[in-house]
Parts: sequence; structure tokens; C-alpha cells
Amino acid sequence: MTQNIDWKAEAAKRKDAYLEDLFDLLRIDSVRDDDNATDEAPVGPGPKEALEAFLALGERDGFTTKNVDNWAGHIEYGDGDELMGVLAHVDVVPTGTGWETDPFEPVIKDGRLYARGSSDDKGPGMAAYYALKMIKDLDLPVSKKVRFIIGTDEESEWKGIKHYLKTEPEPDFGFSPDASFPIINGEKGNATVFIETKGAVDGGSEELVQFEAGLRPNMVPQEAVAVVKSKNPEAIQAGLADFVDGLPVSGVAAVDGDQVTIEMTGKAAHGSKPASGVNAATYLARYLSDFDFAKDAKAFLELTMLYLHDDPEGEKLGIAVTDAIMGELTSNPGVFSFKANEGGKITVNMRYPQGTTEEALFETFKTKLSDYDLTLSKANGKEPHYVPANDPLVTTLLDVYHRQTGLEAHEMVIGGGTYGRLMKRGVAFGAMFPDSVDTMHQANEFMAIDDLMKSMAIYAEAIYELIK
Ligand SMILES: [Zn+2]
Repeated sequence: MTQNIDWKAEAAKRKDAYLEDLFDLLRIDSVRDDDNATDEAPVGPGPKEALEAFLALGERDGFTTKNVDNWAGHIEYGDGDELMGVLAHVDVVPTGTGWETDPFEPVIKDGRLYARGSSDDKGPGMAAYYALKMIKDLDLPVSKKVRFIIGTDEESEWKGIKHYLKTEPEPDFGFSPDASFPIINGEKGNATVFIETKGAVDGGSEELVQFEAGLRPNMVPQEAVAVVKSKNPEAIQAGLADFVDGLPVSGVAAVDGDQVTIEMTGKAAHGSKPASGVNAATYLARYLSDFDFAKDAKAFLELTMLYLHDDPEGEKLGIAVTDAIMGELTSNPGVFSFKANEGGKITVNMRYPQGTTEEALFETFKTKLSDYDLTLSKANGKEPHYVPANDPLVTTLLDVYHRQTGLEAHEMVIGGGTYGRLMKRGVAFGAMFPDSVDTMHQANEFMAIDDLMKSMAIYAEAIYELIK
């Protein structure tokens, strides 16, 4: 009687074996390593070794496995016309500094498992594998095929999984155990536009020598610096205190001969949530726009002030759009640079809901900024992805989650991207719980062992419900 399976008890029986296999996997340094990449190890020896180790577990446990050119692979179970996918990854982000233990020697302390990859994504991935193994051990009747698919380059460019999908079929539905519960059934689209100016600065009382701000397109610039050559640099220095008064920025200016250097400080935030930050670059451009710049320097500062400043939802650019389910478009002008006589460049990253397209956004930029002498270009982005809340995949996963945890189960849309979007009916499902501490990509990454065991039980029931 499959209805009577105590999934949590079945998971608990497998805890020691699960941790032993997980420890072996965590000991492999599987950071992408292009310097040592070969045809045999396309993103480096570590990700290949981790992929092979995972597939070897599948062989050991009696599953059919397939390694697709060391880019990705799968462990397969069941049979039927429909194919379910469970998509995890074995690559990890670089360790960085600040670790109190060896990031590749797992340590359990106070119920927490510390290691690079413990929460992203080896811990949850191994829990999902053990969930599949549980269904096989219990010899439960299934009517569909399921593939546990292992990628090797999730943290960078998704090269491995994209290579895999060139020769292997896209699963009909499935989930990725690589984010949060209760579920992520929607991901906004991601578009990036580059605005480039030429570098002429002469003709005004002020000349913009240099302007720099921002580290990455997906971060709100916390610091911005401009160097201005001026007939009256003291005036630019003197006006700054009044300007920042009452604004959420601070600024300092230093005069050296006929030049003044202005540093503006705002507040960093993730680029998908620009309203949570304070963009130092657009405030600095707003301030400098009160002075007499000319030509391309003037255009660089003025378009920033008019169309990018204080505009996290893209209203000034005319790109604002809101969807009842996916929410509003967000716009983050994340990187700025200008050098006199060379040119300027502004990178604007947007996360957009259903209801617009990357092409439409780009056309609006062209129209809005047509008065300026600019070169506009765009990066290859990602479309919005949404699986409706009433899709049986979503309702089944949420039912299982609620039944096992008693926690509120509801749909969620994020601005980021997960493997869920690789399948038309694909979502992300766990393994972070609402009260988990998110240490992904950080020093001392950990995952609570209880959370891993809870997720194993949830995954087992969920996979079984979807393939029975
Ligand atoms: Zn991940």
C-alpha cells in the first residue's frame, strides 16, 4: 500500500549512507577550471570527476546511466512515454576567502554540514538522488520514465546542460532541487542593453575627464567617481554638500589644480532588486548635470539624469510593464564608464515579466534616446518563464510540501534563473526552507542536516506522485 509509506522514516533509514556518498562528492573540488580544460574535461578536471563520481553511484545502485561527453549525464529509472527530469549540478562556485574549515573537507557542527556545495547544489542534488533510489528500493510501480540529470557548469554559462540537451530529449516536465521551497514556478526574463557614447568633451566650462561606477550589470553601483577639469573646480566642490543634503547618498570632493574629483556613495543591492539599493552613479550624474558640460560628456550625464536616475521600474525610459503574476519590470543601470576622448558606456540590466520582449525593450531604448548620438546594442538574454499555478506539476509539488511540513504552500516568481527554465513545464523546488539560512556562494557555506533529510523525504514523495 503505497499510501502508507512513511517517507520521513524511509529517508531516516538512509541517512548514514546518504552522508557518506555526499561527503565523497563534497571532497571533489569541482570549481570550473578553464585553464586546465581539455576535450575530455570541457570545464576542467573537477567538474568531470564529480560527474563521474555521481554516475558511478547510479551504476552501483543498479540504475541505467549515461555520460554525455563529460558535459553532463543522467541516471535513469522507470519506463513510459512521458519523461520527468530532475536537474541538479555538481559544479561549485570558487571558495573565496574567510573559511573557518577546509571547504572541500566536509565538517558537521551543531547539526550543520559545512562544505562548498553543501547547499548549492551537491547536498540537495544527492537528496534528490536518494529520493529516486528510495522509490527503486521500495519497488514502487511507476508509469513514467525519470532522469536525474547532472550538469557541470550551472554556476557560469550552463554550457554542460546545453550540450546535453543537444542530443538528449528535453524532459516533458520536472524540477530542479537548486533554490527554495515552497516552489519557484516563475522566473522573469533577463535583458541587457549597452549604451555607448563617443568621447568628445570640449566646448563647455567643464570637461569630464573620467566617470566610473559599478562592478557588474547585476549589482546596483555603491560607489561612483568622476574627475572633472573645470574653470572653477571649487564651485563643483562647494555645491556637493547642499546637493546630498536630504538624499540617500553621501559625497566627497577634492580639488587638485584645475581638476576636482567627486566620489559619491550609495548602497549596493542585487540588480534584480534595484529599489533596495541607491545607485551612486545616477546620483553623481544628476549632480554634475547642473554644470556646463559639452558634447558627448553632456550627453552621457544628461541621458543618465533624464532616463536612468531614480527609475527602478523603467518609467522614464518608457519600458515599465507589470504583470499580475510576475510583477513589475526592474531596471538596473549597473556599470558606467566614461573616458575623455575615448568614449562612454552604460550597461543597463533589466528583469522583465510576461507582456514584453527583449526586442520591444531594445526598440524603446532606441526611440527614447534617439536625440543622442549613441550606439545601442544588446546581450543575449533570457525569456520570462512561467508554469501556471494550476499545472498538475505545481499543485502536486505544493501538496507534497504542505503535507510533509505543514508550512504554507504558494507559488513564487523570482528575478534570477534556475535549471527549471530549461523545461517548458519546469520549476525549481527546494531545498532551502523559508527559515533556512542562505549561505550559497558564501564563505562557510552550510546546510542543516535536518533540512537535507526533510528535502529527501519531500523529493521522494514528489517524484513518486509524479511518475506513479
Ligand atoms: Zn546552484
